[in-house]
Amino acid sequence: MGQNAVVTQRNGSRVRVVVLGGGPGGYEAALVAARLGADVTVVDRDGLGGAAVLTDVVPSKTLIATAEVMTLVDGAAELGVRLAPSHDGDRRAQGVSVDLGAVNRRVKALARAQSADIRTRLEAEGVRLVQGTGSLDGPNRVQVLAADGTVSALDVDTTLVAVGARPRAMDDAMPDGERILSWTQLYDLDALPERLVVVGSGVTGAEFASAYDALGSDVVLVSSRDRVLPGEDADAAAVLEAVFARRGLTVLSRSRAQTVRRTADGVLVTLADGRTVEGSHCLMAVGSIPNTAGLGLEAAGVTLSASGHIEVDRVSRTSARGIYAAGDCTGVLALASVAAMQGRIAMYHSLGDAVAPLDLRTVGANVFTAPEIAAVGWTQNEIEAGDVRARTVKLPLATNPRAKMQGVHDGFVKLFCGARSQEVLGGVVVAPRASELIFPVTLAVAQRLTVDDVASALTIYPSLSGSIAEAARRLHNA
Ligand SMILES: Cc1cc2nc3c(=O)[nH]c(=O)nc-3n(C[C@H](O)[C@H](O)[C@H](O)COP(=O)(O)OP(=O)(O)OC[C@H]3O[C@@H](n4cnc5c(N)ncnc54)[C@H](O)[C@@H]3O)c2cc1C
Repeated sequence: MGQNAVVTQRNGSRVRVVVLGGGPGGYEAALVAARLGADVTVVDRDGLGGAAVLTDVVPSKTLIATAEVMTLVDGAAELGVRLAPSHDGDRRAQGVSVDLGAVNRRVKALARAQSADIRTRLEAEGVRLVQGTGSLDGPNRVQVLAADGTVSALDVDTTLVAVGARPRAMDDAMPDGERILSWTQLYDLDALPERLVVVGSGVTGAEFASAYDALGSDVVLVSSRDRVLPGEDADAAAVLEAVFARRGLTVLSRSRAQTVRRTADGVLVTLADGRTVEGSHCLMAVGSIPNTAGLGLEAAGVTLSASGHIEVDRVSRTSARGIYAAGDCTGVLALASVAAMQGRIAMYHSLGDAVAPLDLRTVGANVFTAPEIAAVGWTQNEIEAGDVRARTVKLPLATNPRAKMQGVHDGFVKLFCGARSQEVLGGVVVAPRASELIFPVTLAVAQRLTVDDVASALTIYPSLSGSIAEAARRLHNA
């Protein structure tokens, strides 16, 4: 079935699709369904674009864009750039500082504009938009509670639940929006926190710790684990920890935060072993919980996991016929790109178009720290555990000519290939803008290219991507 095919039922009426949630899982699906000719309604509670656009991806990456400028400023002296003289290299004394109020106004304006663009696009494609809180009333009906308390109902043939997730809160560390903050509350600050204690060293905690350090805050990262980024490549995490240490960012590892309290002029974080950490502000980044409670899911026959996530298969089907789910509420992989793909797949499947099941091996993921950490495919952990037979090459960026010119000292390119097949199985790039550099590796994994295929494509000289081709050449010779 091609684009603009009109999806009809036996009685000749168009298939009625209702999408709960207007984030990437929901709106991308709605666009696909509309193009396939379905009668599509999106019910959204908090704003089109979802948390991805309004509080999570877009705001954080916009803030990080400013942090990147400050990181470049920090490295500028090595490249011969002279700012106003300062004996100790202090940035404020050199006349460089961040106006967080201005940064956050830009962040919020950009997020609003992106949300408005998504609304325009959905309307242009003929998608009906309903603002309110949706829930299932059995398998073929959706109820919507509007902000003014009125309730309406929609009859449905196919439902997609894409209601996302929200920050997990701890009873003894409740965000107050002023000093103890969830990541959604950071953009109301109009002055840089003097000393920011970040609780949680997963991707979100590491990204904000790195960003606020670059912006000029004194940062303490409280990590319950042995190292930061426990879910990422261990060599990559080691590079980041070394950079953090060099920049003066304190990491308290094996330190579990138990309570966070307001003090007269800041916060006091008490760790499980009794130690305390003082700060002006505390950011809680201890994970997310799915927005699946009270939606009538179980009554409609949808199975939830113990964590409250909706169980789905690789074409986004739930256990209930006609009900699909996508994005963070499924707990498959909390990425906007994956949410969008799950949503599209759900619509292709339910509306009878050609569909390839979700393949997580080809999903590239990036941690937007300085340097960035990007990865795709099989991991070193899996290789070492014997899950796949692979050969590995790791090239430090310090030997790359472009890196030398740019004053890039930290990072590496790591590539994995099948021990016999020579196919590229995965890789890790730790570098500034690694998010842009990982794409050739993603392409190689997705298209099952061999290391010789990758090595035979010419890279620009000098370029950081030259290290990816060089790693592929080394794997040929290894
Ligand atoms: C700080 C941070 C940074 C991130 N950065 C990145 C990144 O750089 N790249 C990346 O790929 N991913 C990133 N992520 C992950 C990304 O934000 C999520 O994977 C993505 O938002 C998931 O999209 P979604 O559609 O499932 O849900 P959401 O974006 O959360 O959207 C869900 C929508 O559903 C609505 N909703 C909820 N309940 C109801 C209801 N009952 N009825 C109607 N509507 C409802 C909500 O209002 C919301 O609009 C980041 C996450 C965080 C926390």
